[in-house]
Amino acid sequence: MTKFPSKKTLLLAGAGHAHIGMLRRLSTARLKNTDTTDTDIHLISEQPQTIYSGMLPGWMAGHYQLHDISIDIKSLCMRAGVRFVQQSLVQVNAVSNKVVTKGDEQTVFNYDVLSLNTGADTDMRWLYNHNDHRSDSDVDVGAVNAHANTDVIAIRPLSTFITQWQRILKDAQSSERYQLAIIGAGAAAIELVMAAQVALRNINRNHQVTLVCGENLLSGFNSGFRQRVIKQLHRHGITIIRERATDYRDGKLSTTHKSLPINAVIAATGVIGSAWTASTDLEIEGDGFVAVNDKQQSVSHSNVFAVGDVATRIDKYVAHSGVHSVHGGAVEADNLLAYLQESVMKSYQPKSRTLYLLSCGDKYAIGSWGNVNLQGRWVWHLKKYIDKRFIEVNKN
Ligand SMILES: Cc1cc2nc3c(=O)[nH]c(=O)nc-3n(C[C@H](O)[C@H](O)[C@H](O)COP(=O)(O)OP(=O)(O)OC[C@H]3O[C@@H](n4cnc5c(N)ncnc54)[C@H](O)[C@@H]3O)c2cc1C
Repeated sequence: MTKFPSKKTLLLAGAGHAHIGMLRRLSTARLKNTDTTDTDIHLISEQPQTIYSGMLPGWMAGHYQLHDISIDIKSLCMRAGVRFVQQSLVQVNAVSNKVVTKGDEQTVFNYDVLSLNTGADTDMRWLYNHNDHRSDSDVDVGAVNAHANTDVIAIRPLSTFITQWQRILKDAQSSERYQLAIIGAGAAAIELVMAAQVALRNINRNHQVTLVCGENLLSGFNSGFRQRVIKQLHRHGITIIRERATDYRDGKLSTTHKSLPINAVIAATGVIGSAWTASTDLEIEGDGFVAVNDKQQSVSHSNVFAVGDVATRIDKYVAHSGVHSVHGGAVEADNLLAYLQESVMKSYQPKSRTLYLLSCGDKYAIGSWGNVNLQGRWVWHLKKYIDKRFIEVNKN
């Protein structure tokens, strides 16, 4: 009697940009009847929907509804022939090819091949080193984020942030002068601060948003771009404090030299590895990221792949961004199939220049492509077109 080899199991953990692309590709192959993957595929994600971060500031400023910026992962899985599991990844035991997840109860899944695209957590270490002389990198990543100060609103996870932003708007409606601070110096913090100022000023002209950004505002961008952004912050009347935030309690935000009365604080203070990366035997790099090679493959376990904010390339610097999750994800999807079919894998080589479009609250945006800078209402419409296309191809 012939014994057929049993089907392999591919486990996709997280529903980030890369796995969304993978699901789209599987459903297209299924429609065309060209699906050649003789594999059981499962996707584990915390939520049946995922929020598209690129449009979040537009939602805050009132340009989009929540359904405009959400992607229905459960439906995408159904169309792709992938089993959706609403659970949270809590542990990866790579030596025994098992992951542990948590939902209503704890579950163990076996896999032949694992792909990780769970994104990252907000780096809250700035809250924990104010009263001693440790630098951020000396503070234990997992311990800090597990006990994060509940008064400060972290931008991630986005699903939690959505509820907290709705609460801020409600509180602002019943306040004479609502004061919001946003902490961070990257593009996300800048977009959030301008969106928040537009939203709060629409409620009451006395409401005020403050950006606490330290000394290195937009350090990864060219100086022309930075100057354009600063002009827009001034146009909106945003208060800029170029000091480090150190603490927030009892309605007082402390910075290096100041103490400010603030109703709510949002942290967009960069990323550190997902909490589960503290419970794995995979090789971890830097602040809790899965160490991968140019094929997006774990450097310690060859049947594990990771892409997007959860991973760090060990051979070259690749920024944590949605753009690299999408493009790296396309290569990773090819490599997962190649690995399953024992064929040759590809290398992800990021382009030397990527287009970055930063929305300025109202329907205005600034763009950068290498050293070329752009701005205007038309840049906002270009961003809207690109963002809506991303959502629409993943909805239909
Ligand atoms: C306001 C804002 C605006 C931004 N704008 C841009 C932009 O314009 N361009 C750009 O390139 N980048 C932008 N970024 C950065 C971008 O959001 C991230 O780099 C990108 O989302 C990373 O994508 P990812 O695929 O790694 O995962 P994510 O998009 O973070 O998705 C991770 C997914 O995994 C799920 N998940 C998380 N943990 C678990 C777990 N333990 N178990 C199961 N599931 C889990 C989450 O629910 C989520 O669905 C922005 C960020 C913010 C905050």
